[in-house]
Amino acid sequence: MASVFEVSSPDVQYSADRIESRYIYRTSNVSVNARGQTVVTPQSTVFNFRTERKVPRLGCMLVGWGGNNGTTVTAATLANKLGLQWHTKEGVKRANYYGSVTQASTVSLGTSSDGQEHFIALGELLPMVQPNDIVFDGWDISSRNLAVAMEDARVLDYNLQEQLKPYMEKLKPRPSIYLPDFIAANQKDRADNVLTGTKWEMLQQLRADIQDFKTTMNLDKVIVLWTANTERFCEVKRGLNMTADELMASIERGEEEVSPSTMFAVASILEGCCYINGSPQNTLVPGVVEMAEKHGVYISGDDFKSGQTKIKSVLVDFLVSAGIKPVSIVSYNHLGNNDGKNLSAPKQFRSKEISKSNVVDDMVGSNKILYEDGKKPDHCVVIKYVPYVADSKRALDEYTSEIFMGGLNTIVLHNTCEDSLLASPIILDLVILAEMCQRITMKADGQAEYTGFNSVLSLLSYLLKAPVVPRDTPVVNALFRQRACIENIFRACVGLHPQNHMLLEYKLPAPMTAKTSSTEEVKVPLKTNPRGTIRAQGRHWEHGVSS
Ligand code: NAD
Repeated sequence: MASVFEVSSPDVQYSADRIESRYIYRTSNVSVNARGQTVVTPQSTVFNFRTERKVPRLGCMLVGWGGNNGTTVTAATLANKLGLQWHTKEGVKRANYYGSVTQASTVSLGTSSDGQEHFIALGELLPMVQPNDIVFDGWDISSRNLAVAMEDARVLDYNLQEQLKPYMEKLKPRPSIYLPDFIAANQKDRADNVLTGTKWEMLQQLRADIQDFKTTMNLDKVIVLWTANTERFCEVKRGLNMTADELMASIERGEEEVSPSTMFAVASILEGCCYINGSPQNTLVPGVVEMAEKHGVYISGDDFKSGQTKIKSVLVDFLVSAGIKPVSIVSYNHLGNNDGKNLSAPKQFRSKEISKSNVVDDMVGSNKILYEDGKKPDHCVVIKYVPYVADSKRALDEYTSEIFMGGLNTIVLHNTCEDSLLASPIILDLVILAEMCQRITMKADGQAEYTGFNSVLSLLSYLLKAPVVPRDTPVVNALFRQRACIENIFRACVGLHPQNHMLLEYKLPAPMTAKTSSTEEVKVPLKTNPRGTIRAQGRHWEHGVSS
């Protein structure tokens, strides 16, 4: 597919197969000199990026395909593909991809000479897979077909479900690994579609399933994503799962502590497929990470960042960067879907509590003026199961902050939303972005070989509640920094600089000729102000009033 734009620059080359760019990456090094003074030294490194342009035929296998997220993302993609509309009491609704950062959010390409800023979808920055083209398959411990599972989920409007039913009832999850000890005991009743045999045999079956899906559907690539129930944390210890070899030996021995989600991660890696963990448990044990590195496969996790945590990672960032000191954050939820039922068991709730708990640490750690004693805000998370509200989760949050001169500020939020309608676009983004990353390689000037990203794909952090990052890498939870990371890396792939938001051209009193690069002399387009206001002698006149 042709790009929606092309960059005209000596630093960017397009060929039929690739986009190649040369990009100057600027950072600052901080040190302390002999006089104890902090010294900041700007640094720059030249990076060369290569992006393969051919968009593959992509398959996505969901573990927990018959759950609320699994059925909703499959149904919604189908509805978009078929261009469906449906009637509700509020009127006619149309299928859309709202909530997807690749499909429904925009980035600015720049400004034309008439002062107009040009925006495209984030997903148009590079040649990405279209969600309508993703082929779905998956596993579930429940044998319900996807039409029945969609109805049980109570997420989509009934009129839409009726239109989708003929397609959804043909979709049936493959049998999965059920180890009752890892999910809540209250899930036992639905487990009628389970693999039998030893752990080793089950691993071989998962691998055969991936191969079967790939060949039957004639796919170039498959990505496996866990959206099954939250498991309890597994043990991590020497001899069990600290290395790839230990983990393989543990599966061979049938060790109890190897969780189903880790088995899926291993099967995916051995099949060369990226694996994404959308739930909070510690699937990505050190042995999985080492195995992914050895096989050059991407892994990512943990836990979709969909509702309450997403807002938290915006609100606390806003407060702390405004110089306001959050001191207490209390988050209460109730929900009535099967996820809520599973989380009503203490060990599974504990996994979720851990995943939700560290989300403000980087923001708090960035401000020693407010947090000079290093004490973090009190942070409490409560989740209750209330069947009646089904997928329509309620989240109530109270943020208390210390403000100017001993004052206190309390903000209370009440958020009601279908959980699966928040998670489904995130699933699509995770898959689309992970696939895109598989087609990007880079090298710094002086390096011999182009390489991909680290196997632990931290670029996906924007979509994850508790991002797993490579060793010695800072964890970023602040939402806009995470989004900027995606946008700016993709911009670099087409030789565009990061957004700096300086708008210098609007801050000068008069048009000027500026040197914009070593190779070109260009006129900065300042004559037209998009707001249509008049500029006179350095003052800004609007509606006849001097400001
Ligand atoms: P759900 O209970 O409706 O679906 C989970 C599905 O997984 C069920 O159909 C269940 O039968 C199946 N399952 C359980 N163990 C399995 C196994 N070993 N193999 C295959 N299938 C198995 O839950 P959901 O609302 O779809 O959420 C799925 C997961 O996503 C949960 O862990 C949840 O915590 C996580 N999550 C959801 C959101 C959200 O906004 N919806 C946000 C963050 C994380």
